[in-house]
Amino acid sequence: MNTSIIGYPRIGNLRELKFASEKYFRGEITAAELEQTAKEIRLHNLNLQKNSGLDFIPSNDFSFYDGVLDTAFLLNAVPKRYTALGLPSLDTYFAAARGYQGKKGDVKALAMKKWYNTNYHYMVPEIDDTTDIKLVGTKPFDLFSEALENGVKTKPVVIGAYTFLKLARYTGTKAAADFVDSAAAAYSELLRRFGELGAEWVQLDEPSLVKDMTTEDTALFVSLYEKILANKYGVKVLLQTYFGDVRDCYNEICELNFDGIGLDLVEGKKSLELVRANGFPKDKVLFAGVVNGKNIWRNNYGHTTFAVLELKKYVQSIVLNTSCSLIHVPCTLANETKLPESYKKHFAYAEEKLGELAELKIIFDSEDPIETKEYRLNAALHSEPRSGGNPAVREKVAQLTDSDFVRLPEFAEREKIQKARFDMPLFPTTTIGSFPQTAEVKANRSAFRKGEITEAEYEQFIKEKIAECVALQEEIGLDVLVHGEFERNDMVEYFGECLNGYIFTEKAWVQSYGTRCVKPPVVWGDISRAKPMTVRWSKYAQSLTDKPMKGMLTGPVTILNWSFPREDISLKESAFQIALAIREEVLDLEANGISIIQVDEAALREKLPLRKSDWREDYLDWAIPAFRYVHSGVRPETQIHTHMCYSEFADIIKDIDDMDADVITFEASRSDLTILDVLKENNFRTEVGPGVYDIHSPRVPSKEEIKTAINKMTERIPVSKLWVNPDCGLKTRGNEETVPSLKNLVAAAKEARNENS
Ligand code: GLN
Ligand code: ZN
Repeated sequence: MNTSIIGYPRIGNLRELKFASEKYFRGEITAAELEQTAKEIRLHNLNLQKNSGLDFIPSNDFSFYDGVLDTAFLLNAVPKRYTALGLPSLDTYFAAARGYQGKKGDVKALAMKKWYNTNYHYMVPEIDDTTDIKLVGTKPFDLFSEALENGVKTKPVVIGAYTFLKLARYTGTKAAADFVDSAAAAYSELLRRFGELGAEWVQLDEPSLVKDMTTEDTALFVSLYEKILANKYGVKVLLQTYFGDVRDCYNEICELNFDGIGLDLVEGKKSLELVRANGFPKDKVLFAGVVNGKNIWRNNYGHTTFAVLELKKYVQSIVLNTSCSLIHVPCTLANETKLPESYKKHFAYAEEKLGELAELKIIFDSEDPIETKEYRLNAALHSEPRSGGNPAVREKVAQLTDSDFVRLPEFAEREKIQKARFDMPLFPTTTIGSFPQTAEVKANRSAFRKGEITEAEYEQFIKEKIAECVALQEEIGLDVLVHGEFERNDMVEYFGECLNGYIFTEKAWVQSYGTRCVKPPVVWGDISRAKPMTVRWSKYAQSLTDKPMKGMLTGPVTILNWSFPREDISLKESAFQIALAIREEVLDLEANGISIIQVDEAALREKLPLRKSDWREDYLDWAIPAFRYVHSGVRPETQIHTHMCYSEFADIIKDIDDMDADVITFEASRSDLTILDVLKENNFRTEVGPGVYDIHSPRVPSKEEIKTAINKMTERIPVSKLWVNPDCGLKTRGNEETVPSLKNLVAAAKEARNENS
């Protein structure tokens, strides 16, 4: 039995690529030095994979920024505004990735989007009517040759033509179907070149095949590959899918002239069923994605063995594979020096997953798999009783009934009660929570963590910052104030640290986009609130002002979506456990005099299943109730806010309304407030604060600009439902922009108030 992986993390064990790239951006090292770091990472990864005994080692999975962007450069699909800058090629590439402002011009970066249902972001290729798709890049060939020189004939990996054309944004009149011939010719040329270089296999990644496909989509896919595979130049072609199953095109895939088909058996709910029902072509190899590329738990060899033995009934030739690229997990456990062995033995990061593939190979190559040492040790590990169980929490979740998810009285009644209580002006102004995390705020936290200052000193500083922040907001004239979140490093980590059941890693970085990495906490056991998490700071902030002080919490779905979840219980169960804890905090805040509480659900949209038919059952049916449970116990006069970081929720607008918050704030400025029409059409009931300016950009919006945004809002939404606020938290901005921006925001709201009363 052979083994394979789809791709390996490229950031380096200690984020070497990030640090080198950022140095390069600051002009501190040369392009050659950056290239050198990149090469060291690649060769380290290559040797690791070779030494692990892996049979199919990928190349071209390396990227300086993003693999989709690499493909755009490979295929000559780069907007002219970048090439016209006349920069060296690496800098042209970074200009498209990050934007460029300098002697040669001023251009914004390409758009960035979430990569399917992950927290990784890709750069959206832009195709216009003049785009001439053809093979112009050499990176896949260079990296194949580099590995070959180092003794490994790799399996080069390239994003496939269908996925590339589906992900691109078309800015002219042409659409994907207009590029079939040119794209097919480019991929055909790619195969020819690999044939010349002596490659045996080429892997074409086609994750878009796991999404819902229309008949046009299927036709596009088939016509591309009929052309591409017409001549394979002696190279075997692996069609690699991941993040789901290919139920809409399984038969087409089987009929096309591929040599290998990669199916995801972890997230692909129907993968096994498809093979059982339709069989598998005798002339093809199945790359079976059995090792989870998205989570950090050790593989369960019992489950894997069952799946593989089942597949063997239908498939002649199987290669053991990961379910997706390993870029979604951290690099190596070797740097987790503080994590106790009792936890660590349950973990497998990328490097350890190579070890698992090697063990699985031994297991399947033996006469009696179940009797191998590897199998038995793994079975013992998985049958160990797990620490961190909390029967009381389990019991509480089990006892939840429908009425627990319903807040009474209903919305309209509460709205009246709250209007009377707060007596807010029209267009009440507020912010999303955090104020600038200045260098001194970060320095204070880091000094405390290193033990350089006492807890008392640390807290004294936070108190001063809160007082300053409250005074500033009063001076600016905001209506609903916040404490500023100076005590928080991150909106999930902060809460995770106050919850039983969470554990934290030291070096488990995962690429989020470009040079940005995140370190998701791990849900280990049953979750419960260890102690009040925010009450003290909120209460203190409220004591400084007569205006309402918003309590500020992260919601259960977002906390879960930005963590590595457990696999021994359902996501629903974990979400409800977290909801229990957050609800306690909500009630505690209320009991301590906090009249408005915001529960952020920044990441709610992110994990919506890729297929519409899975939306309800697999996600919304528990995600929305988890949120509802958090606030269903508060009094009618307590106002619940929520916040989302994007406005791409047109397709689940009813569900968002059904969260039954009193007010929702969200990003709208970058999408030109198009969401407003959707709110109007759907008679959106919740009061809304569509962000009136973009906080991601370091500029100061003028009063007029903000007023224009408010006018657009009043054209579509009843004024009694409107709030005025920035589109997200201000923590990444400086005070220089924040203060004048908020002053303009308040001035614009006052102007709107005068005009509308
Ligand atoms: N309350 C958080 C903040 O202001 C919300 C952040 C977010 O939406 N990502 O920082
Ligand atoms: Zn946000």
